[in-house]
Amino acid sequence: MNTLAASGAECPVVLVVDDDMAARLMTRIALEEGGFEVLEAEDGVPALEIFRTHKIDVVLLDVMMIELDGFAVCSSIRGMPHGEHTPIMMMTGLDDTASINTAYDAGATDFVTKPINYGVLTHRVRYMLRAARVADELRRSETRLAKAQAMAKLGHFHWNVDSGLFECSSEVERLTGARNATIIDELSPLVSRVHPDDRGEIETRLGNAIAANEAVQISCRVTLPQGGTAHIHLEAACAVEPDTGTRVLEGVVQDVTERRRLEGLAHKLAYFDTVTGLPNRTTLRKDLGQAIARAIGTEAVVAVFSLDLDNFKRINDTLGRDSGDRLLKTVAERLTTCLRRRDSAYGVRADVRAGDFVARTGGDEFYVVLTEFRSAEESAVVARRMLEAIAQPVNLGGEDLVLSATTGISVYPVDGTTPDLLIDRADAAKNHAKVEGRGRYQFYTSAINARAFERLSMENNLRKALQQEQFELYYQPKIDIRSGRFAGAEALVRWRHPDLGLVSPANFIPIAEETGLIVPLGEWIIRAACRDIAQWRSQGLSDVRVAVNISAMQFASAELPLQLSAALAEWKLPVEVMEVELTESLLMTDTEQSISMLAELRALGIDVWIDDFGTGYSSLAYLRRFPIAGVKVDQTFVREMDTNTNDAAIVAAVIALARSLNLEVVAEGVESRLHLAALAAQQCDYAQGYLYSPPLPAAAFARWVNEHRGPVAKVI
Ligand code: C2E
Ligand code: MG
Ligand code: MG
Repeated sequence: MNTLAASGAECPVVLVVDDDMAARLMTRIALEEGGFEVLEAEDGVPALEIFRTHKIDVVLLDVMMIELDGFAVCSSIRGMPHGEHTPIMMMTGLDDTASINTAYDAGATDFVTKPINYGVLTHRVRYMLRAARVADELRRSETRLAKAQAMAKLGHFHWNVDSGLFECSSEVERLTGARNATIIDELSPLVSRVHPDDRGEIETRLGNAIAANEAVQISCRVTLPQGGTAHIHLEAACAVEPDTGTRVLEGVVQDVTERRRLEGLAHKLAYFDTVTGLPNRTTLRKDLGQAIARAIGTEAVVAVFSLDLDNFKRINDTLGRDSGDRLLKTVAERLTTCLRRRDSAYGVRADVRAGDFVARTGGDEFYVVLTEFRSAEESAVVARRMLEAIAQPVNLGGEDLVLSATTGISVYPVDGTTPDLLIDRADAAKNHAKVEGRGRYQFYTSAINARAFERLSMENNLRKALQQEQFELYYQPKIDIRSGRFAGAEALVRWRHPDLGLVSPANFIPIAEETGLIVPLGEWIIRAACRDIAQWRSQGLSDVRVAVNISAMQFASAELPLQLSAALAEWKLPVEVMEVELTESLLMTDTEQSISMLAELRALGIDVWIDDFGTGYSSLAYLRRFPIAGVKVDQTFVREMDTNTNDAAIVAAVIALARSLNLEVVAEGVESRLHLAALAAQQCDYAQGYLYSPPLPAAAFARWVNEHRGPVAKVI
């Protein structure tokens, strides 16, 4: 009967080692009968060789052999790679205690005495095998557990409080310094590495848990012997073992340093700005909320400053991101220094007050929150100090850079009682300050709110207007002063609002620029001008040249030349029918880029005029660098020319300079014959203004041109 083979399991292999051939034969018969496969060896040396070369599940080993006795074979097998846990049964004729002890010392699993009862032998072998398998399984699962614990940096311990026996895994040894299998009668070995500040408290909590038979959870820092600190989490429970009645403290210790680090990192990313390390918007709102909560019911006011750097984008684009980041860090440091208010009693800078902080919410946007002010006016002092601090030169790559910033201030409780409202209102005040001229501070007022609201509704209306094509182009003729003849036109956009009527571009162009709506609007203007020109040409008006106004954002877009040529192509127009007007400040924001864009337009064949000339701050000499056709003298100078000698001098100077640079000059806002006479005397080239015609709708303009084929108005 081959029971093991019949059960489907692989046949276990038994190595029988005996120098008595008859005994070997008897053993073989009995074991094969029991379902085992049998290998035989007649002495110790061949036995070891077979063990080395075969997979042996059980060894039956005679003690008395000639060359190498059973004890020696047994201990040799224990030293072999797979021999450590193989069950070995010693067969001995000696049943004295000494040889049994020697057998166990040599590593035997069990022994039988000769003469052998073969009927029982198979059962004992089978039992031994089963026990070995269970032991194997246990060892494997212990190894898996140990691996898992090592991965989780988890260790466990077991302390018999009454006997003092402390047992633990190696991770507990590493983290706490306590030793496995030692007798301890107090908690101190378990907490010896805990940070001295926490040690007393933790010892007390563990002691209480033991006294009350309770569970305890502890997180603390430990100092590792190789240096460095680890964060550990310890969970332990004390219980009385039911069968022995002894108290046992059992627990796990986990190294959570890495998890803490990642949690810290995640926290930092979620709540702080990565460039400056300052609180981000989420933290700003939360901490401002706390500042407000503390101020409720007190006399104190909380001030919120919304601040951004003037022209930061340009600096960032020109100098590169790294320099931009360094600049932001410098600003962050300077603002933080401004938080240190002067201590009036001692005249020295005090420490930063607990609730005060600087935040950065992205780009060049900073916020400063100051608490415990007695009056809003005090915050004006701080605002001035912040603007001054930012205005100190910053050295970047060997060059001194001077920055300026604009800030808006809102104050709790007068301007709002929630973080969002205070932030919004500080922003509104800042935007207002920017319109009024940068580098300033501005308190929030309700008028600002009304203005902000108006702008918002204007923005929404503008979007709608674009979709519904509520825009029209008007045209104003330009006259050649020498011949008195029509010489071209300027296209001026009008917004026909269903309720508001005709809205002036002065009112909506700035908002379209701020919101970026100028880009689609600008494209519409270019195409509408082409459409009108094509229409006039089909009616025989072939000599109309139109100047279109281009705003900063359009000029900054690389698409502009393509937009112009595509619109001309769409209406099959020659390039000479189109000119563009740009304001002088627009060219100055990025000189290099301006020059290359101007060159591109020139290459296309499109003339560029500098509009509103004289209102900018730049020196006239820079004009030399730009490939332009001419300048348009701003109407404010022209208008006052006959009464204001200063303005007359400016106009004269501009005309003289332009002539010296071979540029042509258009005078805008020419309203009277006196203007015209003065301009003619200065040898100005063109005039545009109400003297000839206001801007006209396309059809009316075409009629005007037809009616003014001859000289329109000559100088008297
Ligand atoms: P601008 O380009 O300097 O246009 C000249 C402005 O002077 C026009 O005002 C015109 O109507 C006005 N004007 C013409 N002759 C006289 C005169 O004799 N006396 C007086 N007092 N004013 C005169 P408008 O049409 O209100 O445009 C104002 C500004 O809006 C323009 O100044 C230009 O900067 C901007 N703008 C107008 N249309 C467009 C456009 O299509 N695109 C862009 N980007 N801006 C435009
Ligand atoms: Mg213009
Ligand atoms: Mg102008």
